[in-house]
Amino acid sequence: MKKVVLLGSTGSIGVSTCKVAEDLSEDIVLIGLAAGRNVSLLAEQVKKFQPRSICVTEQAAAKKLSNQYDGNLEVFWGADGLIEIATMEEADIVLIAIVGTAGLEPALAAIRSGKDIAVASKEILVMAGEIVMSEARKYGVRVLAVDSEHSAIFQCMDDCPRESVRQIWLTASGGPFRETPVEEFKKITLDQALKHPSWQMGPKITIDSATLFNKGLEMIEAKWLFDIEMSRVKVIVHPQSVIHSMVEFVDGSIISQLSTPDMCLPIQYALTYPKRMPSDRVQTNLAEIGKLEFEEPDLERFPSLNLARKAGDVGGTLPAVLNAANEEAVEAFFNQQIGFTDIFRIVALVMDEHDVDQKPSLEAILSADLWSRQHVRSTVKSL
Ligand code: NDP
Repeated sequence: MKKVVLLGSTGSIGVSTCKVAEDLSEDIVLIGLAAGRNVSLLAEQVKKFQPRSICVTEQAAAKKLSNQYDGNLEVFWGADGLIEIATMEEADIVLIAIVGTAGLEPALAAIRSGKDIAVASKEILVMAGEIVMSEARKYGVRVLAVDSEHSAIFQCMDDCPRESVRQIWLTASGGPFRETPVEEFKKITLDQALKHPSWQMGPKITIDSATLFNKGLEMIEAKWLFDIEMSRVKVIVHPQSVIHSMVEFVDGSIISQLSTPDMCLPIQYALTYPKRMPSDRVQTNLAEIGKLEFEEPDLERFPSLNLARKAGDVGGTLPAVLNAANEEAVEAFFNQQIGFTDIFRIVALVMDEHDVDQKPSLEAILSADLWSRQHVRSTVKSL
């Protein structure tokens, strides 16, 4: 039995993780669940999985839940509560699927208490990949990928030495605007950007998939997870989203991992690793899919890829600044304060104005994150 703590249980990845836990109820037990504000869904999950501990964002909601469960359940709240639940003594692995950066400190706390972590929240590796990976090495724990692309690369690499890898290829669906001419980009609406062609995901990552910032963040995530320079992390557009990513070896051989798009598969692999458990949930009929296509990403329409490459190359506090600026710009786009192309423009501007700290502490990273957010907010106000 793997004892799992799930942070972000009420989100898209959280709900898929619950499905995996139901499929493999003999092998996986959810002992801790953390949500934000969706208390009614969390209550349903508590009924189904009977965890030992839960956490919510608001103190008032925690108090209400506490009274409801009459002491049979530990109820935590807020940022400290996330750390309590991420360090539960019995936990073997903590899956972090909180949107944004709130998962960073619980991830570090889990590592420091000797737990493996499974990372969906790519933001934490983008912001503080060097610190997270070096703490994981120090405490002898695994950092397992939940993102389908990184899970694919992990499965293809299979412990082979880094010198046999020429480059890795992250596949990108291309999002809803793969074929939209550049002249129409300014008119893109929120509703259009929220319609992803192949994946059902939370709203923030859906917008990131439309701008391709999601792929940019994944490039930086790959650099840390696989200890590889940015110049060897490549992106290729593959509209069918069947090949989840590829590893090209020095002899010219390319190994890829395929399946119909369903996050349950990489989640299951991260939670059961190094075992592969039988499951019928994901079925792939290649004859029905028929063809697999590839094209170069268009860097003119999607400047996000070059911005992320620059942030990953320069390193230090710049990836945290890119990540925070993107998060704030996406929020402003949600609130209809800015247009679609302003997201690229604002992230580029804030990155340009940042004074990079090359060897930052966690505090310096968090303060660069804050600086970037404030800078975006004042830029948006002045538009
Ligand atoms: P969602 O928006 O669907 O879910 C976010 C989750 O985080 C919810 O459970 C939400 O709780 C919770 N949450 C938000 N803020 C807090 C907080 N301060 N404390 C505790 N919980 C909080 O996002 P996704 O599931 O789509 O994405 C989650 C992460 O996984 C993101 O980093 C994303 O980039 C990554 N990812 C997602 C993929 C996908 O297919 N969806 C694929 C690969 C990576 P509540 O709703 O209760 O407020």
